[in-house]
Amino acid sequence: MGKQGSGGKDRDRGISRRTLIVGGVASAVGVGLLARGDLARMWWQMPGVDKPRTAGAVDFKGAEWVAAAAANWRRADRPADYPIDMVVVHVTQGSYSGTLQVFKDPWHGASAHYVVRKDGHIAQMIRELDVAFHAGNRDYNQRSIGIEHEGFVDRPEDFTAAMYASSAKLTAGICRRYGIPVDRKHIIGHVEVPGTDHTDPGLHWDWDRYMRLVRAAYKQAGSAKA
Ligand SMILES: [Zn+2]
Repeated sequence: MGKQGSGGKDRDRGISRRTLIVGGVASAVGVGLLARGDLARMWWQMPGVDKPRTAGAVDFKGAEWVAAAAANWRRADRPADYPIDMVVVHVTQGSYSGTLQVFKDPWHGASAHYVVRKDGHIAQMIRELDVAFHAGNRDYNQRSIGIEHEGFVDRPEDFTAAMYASSAKLTAGICRRYGIPVDRKHIIGHVEVPGTDHTDPGLHWDWDRYMRLVRAAYKQAGSAKA
């Protein structure tokens, strides 16, 4: 967010590129020509087939599932239909509970995948495979995960150590899952999205501190896996 009452700008509805791509794959290749392995890998790309979903499931361990209104996001099958190569950092310009409330409101027209509370608690409102309307830019929405942080851009005290730490862990996990480089080209602020008039996360968001924490969490996640 970063600006109140401008949710309409974050809308991106219309014809899904996925429908066209999926249709193209199916007709150009032909199911009969696919090797068994390819079929096993691609079955969920076939028209009318979606990845299995479990109600209440989250992509980040420890996050609390709070569903956003269906009108505020678009069903997708990322990273199969759109690669995910970006994380967009936002500031809510309101309270945590107020943000959850507007993302649950079908008339709001915008939402993010995650909302991080000042104490570090994280709500996931949209699955990462789906497209959230948070960047106000269709291309950026399709390729990114949006993370909101409770607070106001002009109140540096809102950005707590607990918030930085837990958000950094979340972003590191996203980078691990999708092979996103941990740098400022791929972890950006809403203000850096082309065409936006939003300013979040603002001048008080400590990017050096945040990126240091993300890099550390990224390394830790890597060694935990190995
Ligand atoms: Zn924003």
